[in-house]
Amino acid sequence: MPASIIPKPDGGKVVKTNCFECHAKCGVLAHVDSSGTLVKVEGNPEDPRNQGRLCPKGRSAVQILNDPHRVNYPLKRVGKRGEGKWERISWDEAMDTIEKRLKEYKKNFGGESVVFGQGTGRGTNQWNHRLGNTLGVNHWCSPAHICLLPLMTTSLYMFGMLPIWDGCDFERSQCMVFWGSNLVWTEATISAGEVGRSRNRGAKIIVIDPNYEHPLASRADHFLPVRPGSDSALAMAWINVIIEEDLYDHDFVKKWTNAPMLIDAETLDPITEAAFKKEGNKGQLMIWDEMTHSPQPIGSTTASPALNITQEITLTDGRKITVTTAWQILRQRAAAMPPEKAAKLCWLETDKIKEAARMYATTKPGAITVFQGIEEHTNSKHTIQAINTIMAITGNIDVYGGNMWVPFWNEMLGPRLAGMPPESHAQKRLSNFKHYPNSHPTQVWDAILTGKPYPIKAYISVQGNPISWSENSNKVVEALHKLDFLVVMDYFMSPTANLADIVLPSAHWTERDYIADELCGRWFFGQQKAVEPLYERRSDITFMRELGRRLDPKWWPWKTNEELFDFQLEPYKITWAELKEQWIFENTPFIEKRYEQNGFPTPSQKLEIYSLIFKSTDSDPLPDYEEPAESPYSQPGVAKDYPFILTTGRRYPNYYHSAYRGIPYLRELAPEPRVFINSETAKKLGIGENEEVWIESPHGKIKMKAQLTDGIHQRVIALPHGWWQACPELGLPGYPDNIANANCLISDKYHDKDLGTPGSRSSLCKVYKA
Ligand code: SF4
Repeated sequence: MPASIIPKPDGGKVVKTNCFECHAKCGVLAHVDSSGTLVKVEGNPEDPRNQGRLCPKGRSAVQILNDPHRVNYPLKRVGKRGEGKWERISWDEAMDTIEKRLKEYKKNFGGESVVFGQGTGRGTNQWNHRLGNTLGVNHWCSPAHICLLPLMTTSLYMFGMLPIWDGCDFERSQCMVFWGSNLVWTEATISAGEVGRSRNRGAKIIVIDPNYEHPLASRADHFLPVRPGSDSALAMAWINVIIEEDLYDHDFVKKWTNAPMLIDAETLDPITEAAFKKEGNKGQLMIWDEMTHSPQPIGSTTASPALNITQEITLTDGRKITVTTAWQILRQRAAAMPPEKAAKLCWLETDKIKEAARMYATTKPGAITVFQGIEEHTNSKHTIQAINTIMAITGNIDVYGGNMWVPFWNEMLGPRLAGMPPESHAQKRLSNFKHYPNSHPTQVWDAILTGKPYPIKAYISVQGNPISWSENSNKVVEALHKLDFLVVMDYFMSPTANLADIVLPSAHWTERDYIADELCGRWFFGQQKAVEPLYERRSDITFMRELGRRLDPKWWPWKTNEELFDFQLEPYKITWAELKEQWIFENTPFIEKRYEQNGFPTPSQKLEIYSLIFKSTDSDPLPDYEEPAESPYSQPGVAKDYPFILTTGRRYPNYYHSAYRGIPYLRELAPEPRVFINSETAKKLGIGENEEVWIESPHGKIKMKAQLTDGIHQRVIALPHGWWQACPELGLPGYPDNIANANCLISDKYHDKDLGTPGSRSSLCKVYKA
C-alpha cells in the first residue's frame, strides 16, 4: 500500500487524494470502510493550500458519488432525438459504434467533420486536444472563449507567462485587488484563508465588482461597484492617475518593459535599426538613449531609455516620419480617460477612482486577481491588457506579494501532450478571431447548421453541456438536433446528453486516478481513486485513451492509464507510482524576479506593454477604452427599449457552473434561480419579492423569480447561469426547454474582435412581470 493510503484498525483505509468539484483541487482525506465503501471526506491538513478546509461541494462527495440520478451504464438512443428513450448497451458496443462512425466520417468528410468538445474540463483538456489532432483537426470546442483563454492569451503575449489567478501571492501582499473576481467563493478553501491571514496583518483590500454583496466588499478599503463592462475605462483612468501623479516604477518600466520602444506615431509600427542605417537590422527594435541622444538597440545595457520623446526623423529611404515611444501612446490614451470621465462611464465617484488607484500604486507589493468578471465582455482584450499594464507599470509583476510567474499551463498544454497537427489542418479550425486559437463555438454551431465552410457530422462531448455554457443556447439546441452523431460522457443526463445518440457514464473523482495539475502552478498531486468505479462508470481518461488507440495507436501508444501518466510526468522525473506514493509534488517554487536571468519570454524579451504579437496581426498593440458592443452608450437606440445592463453568471459558493442542482445538500443552500433587481427599481416596475418575471434581451427571454436587493445598482440586473437540473428528493423542479437558461439572452453576433468573447456580463435587457 502506498504511504498515501493509511490503513485503519477496522480494516478500512484513509486515502490521500484531491477533490475535483472545482479547479482548486483541494487536498482530501477519503475515508473508506472495510467493505470498500466511501463513507466520508474531509480536508487534508497537509495540503499547504486548503490546510484541511473543504467547501460544501467538496463535502458532498459521498452524495455526488451515490446520487440515484447518475448515469451508470452506456446507453443508446432508441427513440427520436431528445425523446428520452434509451437502451442499455455494453461498453464494447458503445466503443465499437463510436470507432466505426468516426472512421467513416473521417473517410467521407475529413477529420474536420468530427468535433471533440468539453465543458470547464475535468483534467482532460490536453487529451481532448490530442483526440482532435489524432483525427486531423483540433477544434477543441469549449467555453474557453468565456473562461481563461482571453486572460491567458493576453497575459502570455504581454508577459510570456501567467502571473494572474494562482500567481497572486496574497500571503505576502500589502494590497490585494479583486477585480471581477470572487476567489473567496470560487476557490473558497484556499483563497479565503490566504486573504484572511493577510487582512489580519494589515494588508489593504480593493474590490472592483458590480455586486455590492461581493463577500469582501464590506471589508474593503475601497469598493468600486463598476458598471458591468466599463472596466476598460476604469483601468485606463487608473493608468492616467498612476502616470500623471508619477506613481509608476520608473526603473522597472524603463529597464524591463518595452514602453520605451520607438514606434511610428501614425501607424504604431515599431521602428527598427534599418530606419536609421542603410545596413541596419530590420528586426532590431530600438529605443532612444537619453545619454547619447541617439537611437540604440532595445536591449542595450549602457543606454538610458527615454520614455517621453516624440520627434521627426528622416528614414534611410528619405521619408520623414514622426517617431514616438509606446509609452507616449499609452500616456496619450490614458490622458483621454481622466478619472472624471471614467466616473461618468463607470457610474462611480471620481475621488474613489483616484484614491483606489493611489492605494494600489503606493502600497507595495500589490497583487491584482482578475477573472471572469472582466473577461466575459465584448471588449475583453482591451480590459485585460489595461489591467495587466497597471500591474506592469507599478513593478508588481513577478515580485513577492505581487503577481508571480506561473508557467505550468505552457507545459501541460504544449505539443508534447496535445500533439501537433499539420499546419494545413490547423488552418481548418473554425475561428474568425485572430487570437482565439481553437474553433470558436459560435462558428461550430453555424457550421453544423449550414455545412459551411465544411460539414460537421459528429460531436463528442466529455463532461460538457454546451446548451448551458454557450451563448445563444437556442441555436445550440438547433445545431445538436441537426448532428448526425452525438456522444456525451457525463455524470448526469444533462440537456445536451438528452439529445445524444450514445451516453456514457463518467466516473466521479473519488472513482478515478488522475494527475491533479493544471492551475495548481506550484504543486501537483497524485489524485488517486478512493473506491473502484461503481456500476459501469469509467474515467474520462480511460475513454479518451481507448478511443484514441482505436482511431490511431501511433498517437496513443499507452496501453494503460498508468503508462499515460508516466509519459505525462516524464519532464518532472517522477513516475505515477512515485507520485501516488508521495501524493504531493512541488513543481515550481515561487521565486521572484526570474526575468532578471534571461528577460521575459516574449518576442522582445521585455514585458510587452506594447504587444508585438497583437501588432503583427493588425490588432491594436496597446490597451484602450472600448465600450461593450451592447450598452447604453454604444447602442442608445436599443437601450431605450432595453434600459438595464444585464450581467449573467452570478456565482454560488455551493454550485460549480451548471453542476449539482440535483444534490439535495447543495440545492437546499440555493433552491431556485433568482434574478437580482434593485428594490427601488422593482418598486417602479411594480415587481414584488419572489414574483415571477420575464427577463428579455434583444435576443431572447427567460423567466425567474425576483430577488429584491439594495446590493445592486438601480440600472443593473444580475442573474445566475447553469440552471437545468431538478432535485426530486427535495421536490424542486428542473428547468427544461431553456426557460431559465441565461445564455438564451446572450447574442452570438457580438464578440470581442480579437479574442471572440461574447457579452455574457454586459448586455442590455428589460424586466417585467410574468
Ligand atoms: S474549493 Fe470546494 S469544490 Fe473546489 S476543490 Fe476545494 S473542496 Fe472541492
